[in-house]
Amino acid sequence: MPDSHIQRCLDLCAQAHHLGGEDLSRKLIELQQALRSLETDRPETTTETAPPAADLDRWQHEPVITMDMHGYLTGWNRGAEMLFGYTPDEAIGQHILFLYAEEPDAHISKIFELFLDHGSPLMEVRRRKKSGETFRANMTLQHILDDNNEAVAMEAHLSEIPDRLSTEEKHRLYAKIIEDSEAGILITDASERIVSVNPAFSRITGYSAGEAIGETTDLLNSGVHGTDLREKVLAAMHGADVWQGEIIGRRKNGDLFPQSVSIGVARNADGLVSHAFSMFSDISALRAVEERMQQIVNFDSLTGLPNRTLFHQLVEQALAVAHRNKDHCALLVIDLNRFNSVNDSLGHEVGDALLRQVGQRMRNVLRQEDILARIGADEFVVALSSIQKREHSGLVAKKLLACLESPFVIGSHALHIGASIGIAIYPEDGLNAGALQRYADIAMQRVQRNNENGFLYYSPEMNLRAKEQWQLEGELRQALSGNQLMLHYQPKVSLRSGRIVGAEALIRWYHPEHGLIPPDKFVPLAEETGLILELGSWILDEACRQIRIWQDVGLEPLPIAVNISARQFDNQLPERLQATIAHHHLPCELLKLEITESLLVRGPEKVIPIMNELVALGFNLSLDDFGTGYSSLAYLKKFPITTLKIDRSFVIGVPDDENDCAIAQAIVTMGKQLRQEIVAEGVETQAQMNFLRGLGCDQLQGYLFSPPIAADEFERMVRDGRRLILD
Ligand code: C2E
Ligand code: MG
Ligand code: MG
Repeated sequence: MPDSHIQRCLDLCAQAHHLGGEDLSRKLIELQQALRSLETDRPETTTETAPPAADLDRWQHEPVITMDMHGYLTGWNRGAEMLFGYTPDEAIGQHILFLYAEEPDAHISKIFELFLDHGSPLMEVRRRKKSGETFRANMTLQHILDDNNEAVAMEAHLSEIPDRLSTEEKHRLYAKIIEDSEAGILITDASERIVSVNPAFSRITGYSAGEAIGETTDLLNSGVHGTDLREKVLAAMHGADVWQGEIIGRRKNGDLFPQSVSIGVARNADGLVSHAFSMFSDISALRAVEERMQQIVNFDSLTGLPNRTLFHQLVEQALAVAHRNKDHCALLVIDLNRFNSVNDSLGHEVGDALLRQVGQRMRNVLRQEDILARIGADEFVVALSSIQKREHSGLVAKKLLACLESPFVIGSHALHIGASIGIAIYPEDGLNAGALQRYADIAMQRVQRNNENGFLYYSPEMNLRAKEQWQLEGELRQALSGNQLMLHYQPKVSLRSGRIVGAEALIRWYHPEHGLIPPDKFVPLAEETGLILELGSWILDEACRQIRIWQDVGLEPLPIAVNISARQFDNQLPERLQATIAHHHLPCELLKLEITESLLVRGPEKVIPIMNELVALGFNLSLDDFGTGYSSLAYLKKFPITTLKIDRSFVIGVPDDENDCAIAQAIVTMGKQLRQEIVAEGVETQAQMNFLRGLGCDQLQGYLFSPPIAADEFERMVRDGRRLILD
């Protein structure tokens, strides 16, 4: 034991003797520490277990550090000096935090404070030596108490946890870990060039080390991420916080793949970023599992359709949109009739196959935006979002029933199955998915009680309307085949000569019981049900037949205008028209086509080419009901029309209503500029005629001259040379 140690203890005792208060406490601590040094510096008496000579010094000197209650070092023994490399002069007076391996942050200070309160058992810590090397150590901390049992100082005992690996071994091991890692690793230098990749990188991305090294990380850029994410990644590569997240990468073969990535940096001795590293794993398999889970949670495994959970979510979203747009929605509950008997008699496999086919057929007749789900064994639901009219849901119900009509072929069986459908309407019947489904279900059960295939609305008022419409539709079909329809002709007269220059063909339905049904009552219905195609063909054929008769009897050839509804205006129209006039041996000039602006909802890019085709074939187009629709001057210029018909609603007010006069005048001026012939519809009075004639209108059609009349009456009028009296 060195004498100097003993002498130091004696000196301290002598000094303490003269002191009081805080100074005494400090001195006592020093003394205590000196005594402990005496203890630890005592030589080992036995040599049997002595460590190797190289470690002897360290083994003999357990590092002990004392500090005051604020953490300032007051004692630093030989062991501490050997371990840390600081002499007592360098260490004493410093704060304990200067030995910490990490920057002293709030967290560390917190631990320190905690200790001050409670003392601490053995803990493992990381510390930094004077050389900068960091190491792990076991440490115990304890209070040093004064005579009154008050803590006056702290004492830390440290023992280094030896690093079993040499630096060289460590480097070899780290390299091996990187080589064998399942995660792809790429290392870039400060200029973002790849300097090293591991085999997993090549396995995942398809790029060999040779292909990747020297490139930037753009090599893996999928192009699907915005600049936001790219900036974050770049910031991490340049030393901002470690970044962890998921990104989509691109493999060498072009495939995209999801990857979980962490990006960090290595710094040089000056603290500057020398390299960035990115560790990533391919998580495609994980994503596939997640998607599969989503599928299980949200979709019906048998039909692949959404299940009840997803359906309700989708409906709630659709209702929110409908609420914003003040639209109607409809929810249809569809229950298959006698499905159980199929299951019971032919087995579940056949039953399952039938349900799959039913699901497919229904999906096929619905629009993309309609939601179809399976919510029970043989129960399906449909949600129609944003329907313009509540009645449209009835049409969809009919379509669904019709799609089930033809037999389902399953193996050797041809099965017939019907359905009962209940409909509830948003917002009238209910405001949320749950309520709507409940009410639709009640309506469906009503249908089922009658053991019928069919549909019912939840609300009685809607049922009444549906019934009337259904009836009307059936009767219109009969009318088509049963001679109840005929065309009337309303003359058009020239405002220059007063002579008849043509006519418009208008359909009339003479119902055997209800008498004359005006076109406004059944043309829209025919449009909704699709019956307009048959009706339209009949009208065209009938008009051409009549023109042919007039030609044959030598009547002055006058163009006859036929109204073409938007639904008829498809790609096949030119062909159909050509076939009809060819069938009746007529020139195109004798048939005019009246179209309306409602066509435009189909998109100008779709309808304008059809218009051009018709004009190229020699037909003349008139724009009917002008001013009531969607037209803007921009479209009007693109339409190859020869005639504008000013809607009756503007004619009514002239010459007294200033607005109507202004609109009529604007339309005429516009039409004249576009060199179009202008027809005023629904002219009933002399005053209206005079005004419109004054504006420069070319023709007049209206009760003032004649209402729509039967063909023979029109023929007589033309033969008689009847004229409009202009003054
Ligand atoms: P529209 O094509 O604008 O036909 C003009 C309507 O105005 C006809 O009604 C005609 O009778 C009426 N009208 C003519 N002059 C006067 C008048 O001075 N005063 C009054 N108050 N009314 C007059 P209608 O025949 O009832 O036809 C109504 C609508 O039904 C037609 O409007 C047209 O959109 C449609 N429609 C009629 N026939 C057919 C057809 O054969 N095919 C198609 N697709 N639609 C038709
Ligand atoms: Mg018309
Ligand atoms: Mg009109």
